[in-house]
Amino acid sequence: MQLIYKGNSFKYQTEAVMKLFLPAQRFGFTYLDDGDTFDGEGDSALMTLERADNCADISVTVFFGGKTSEKQMKSEDISDDSCEFLMSKLLYLCMSELTGMTFEWGILTGVRPVKQVHRLMEKGLDREGVFSALREKYLVTENKCSIAYQTAAVQKPILDRLKLTGGKTFGLYVSIPFCPTRCSYCSFISQSAQGAAVKKLIPLYIENLCDEIRTTAEITASLGLKPDTVYFGGGTPTTLSAEQLARIMRTVAESFDMSLVTEYTIEAGRPDTVTAEKLAAIKENGCTRISVNPQTLNNSVLQAIGRSHTAEQFFESFELARKAGFNSINTDIIAGLPTDTPESFRATMDGLIRLSPESITVHTLSIKRSANLNSSDEKQAFMKSPASLMVDHATEQLGKNGYLPYYMYRQKNMVDNLENIGWVKPSHESLYNIYIMEEVQTIIAVGAAASTKLVLPDGNIERIFNFKYPVDYNMRFETVLKRKAEIKNFFTKK
Ligand code: SF4
Repeated sequence: MQLIYKGNSFKYQTEAVMKLFLPAQRFGFTYLDDGDTFDGEGDSALMTLERADNCADISVTVFFGGKTSEKQMKSEDISDDSCEFLMSKLLYLCMSELTGMTFEWGILTGVRPVKQVHRLMEKGLDREGVFSALREKYLVTENKCSIAYQTAAVQKPILDRLKLTGGKTFGLYVSIPFCPTRCSYCSFISQSAQGAAVKKLIPLYIENLCDEIRTTAEITASLGLKPDTVYFGGGTPTTLSAEQLARIMRTVAESFDMSLVTEYTIEAGRPDTVTAEKLAAIKENGCTRISVNPQTLNNSVLQAIGRSHTAEQFFESFELARKAGFNSINTDIIAGLPTDTPESFRATMDGLIRLSPESITVHTLSIKRSANLNSSDEKQAFMKSPASLMVDHATEQLGKNGYLPYYMYRQKNMVDNLENIGWVKPSHESLYNIYIMEEVQTIIAVGAAASTKLVLPDGNIERIFNFKYPVDYNMRFETVLKRKAEIKNFFTKK
């Protein structure tokens, strides 16, 4: 498919729209000058912009599968943003006409839906106003308008309370990028701790991590910043031993002023890493919330995705966590996994609801470049998966059983262009998840693959990245500390 631009080079949004319809295709790009004409053959989309002083003429002509669709419009807003947006919309309408396909999120591709709802609410729009803006401007379905609106409504009081802290709090993220084995769909920087080389580097990693925690605490204290949430993620933090986890947690507690911390999460994502000893150690050191993730309760699907545990092991780990006194447990599941079916997904959903965790996060499979599944044939097959039926079922059942949607995010390449949604029983919302998704609070991150996101007093966002792999993190640790020192410069620069 050739994408041809005349009078513009609005590649970013238009390509994203085309990927909705043709997810596994590669596109060619051609930029025409004023007098040029395109005389290529085959499928193509010609996107033309003509701008005068107070008016822009935007037109799109798509040739696809031997059929043609053509749409044009005039706009008084001649800014690039507006013209690119309108061109993407016309392209979506042409492709919809030619393929018969529509997408539930319409042309909301690179935008966070809930952020968009908050913006509309701030402009004074009520529920009806928000729905009609999402429907008419972005072509979002009623169903998705409702989820995005409900999510924003749950978040609103929490975000209002955060504003009262005047930007003086932050979330602390501790990265433990190790897992017992690697899942086939994994797109994180996580290393299997089975290999001797990785096992060997863990002690030095912990040593350095504790150093970085202490240095970071000195920097944040000097800026008058205090953590209000702590989050250990990865990877699977519980890949480490009870003693290793306790040591890192003690370092956090001894280094930071923990007086404002109301939420302390540790991902115990893989049931095969959960033991009573580890649960006791993390509970004793301040953890208030954990995540134990089955992904599916179907053992054959677990095997197909390379998870080295069973559904029974998940139930045992969950039970252990309850016995250890955890009264806020999250469980993650994934819609659209290879070999999973709507029936088996339904059974997973029902099984989890019976277990009654405080939150259930429903992910949709995202196929990223780094995952083993990303061969183009497999990708094409997954794009036809019944994931949207699964997500609809989850939405219906969770809503009926007292769970509310409280955070949402979308990634590129998600099966059926769907989303990930965190569902929660009232008053168990994870503040960390809301703040990070809505980009309203500074996240200070330590460890390999950690990325610090500074929300500065002027509203700008700056990022500081650590080395991705533990081996580089260990070898170039001096640089890690130097980069951390930049936090101070960002907060104090005029
Ligand atoms: S548990 Fe998560 S981070 Fe670890 S390999 Fe599996 S998907 Fe990746």
